[in-house]
Amino acid sequence: MKKDAKIVLATRNKNKVREIKAVLAEAGLDSLTVLSLDDIGYTDEIVEDGETFSANAYIKASVPAKLGYYGLADDSGLEVDYLLGGPGVYSARYAGEPCNDENNNQKLLEELEDVPYELRTARYVSVISFVSPDSSSESAFFRGEVNGIILNEYHGNGGFGYDPLFFVPELKKTFAEVTMEEKNAISHRGKSMRQFAAWLKSVIED
Ligand code: IMP
Repeated sequence: MKKDAKIVLATRNKNKVREIKAVLAEAGLDSLTVLSLDDIGYTDEIVEDGETFSANAYIKASVPAKLGYYGLADDSGLEVDYLLGGPGVYSARYAGEPCNDENNNQKLLEELEDVPYELRTARYVSVISFVSPDSSSESAFFRGEVNGIILNEYHGNGGFGYDPLFFVPELKKTFAEVTMEEKNAISHRGKSMRQFAAWLKSVIED
């Protein structure tokens, strides 16, 4: 892969584009151009109907790859042991319509009502898929995880999604009580993105 290659991140989420750019810059890979689907004028809805994070990440990353770009996508979610790994790939739409964090968190609290602390173990998972436009060159997956406990009440106003309920023993705080830098240093997405950046460095031509 050339060091001035263009990578298209299959997302409309500007935060994710900013996050990946920061990780690549930190790894000394700022000669690469990172674009979003909006940047390449791709407006169709991508149907994420995979049953695993890997399947959904691959479905998304394949879209730019089919258009001749290096495609990159992450798929992430929350796995709660007591819910046998749920909500998993359904994390964003756990409580159904209207899809929002408040309804999802409320549903999680209800499902775990009266479940004791020691059985409330969970993890966030992020899987990154990288797909080359040319099937004979590099494609790969990277996975990051962070363990936590689902509290029975909200703590903190930061972060997003399930963060106010996701207590991280390592930090003795929820992800809604820490700075973005503190979160990224140990988060599922921070880990998968740093693995991706390290791998990319090894396959890039000088
Ligand atoms: P997606 O990978 O953008 O599709 O996100 C999936 C869903 O997983 C989000 O809508 C959140 O509900 C949940 N999720 C993923 N990562 C995080 C996180 O870092 N904090 C809180 N919720 C998350």
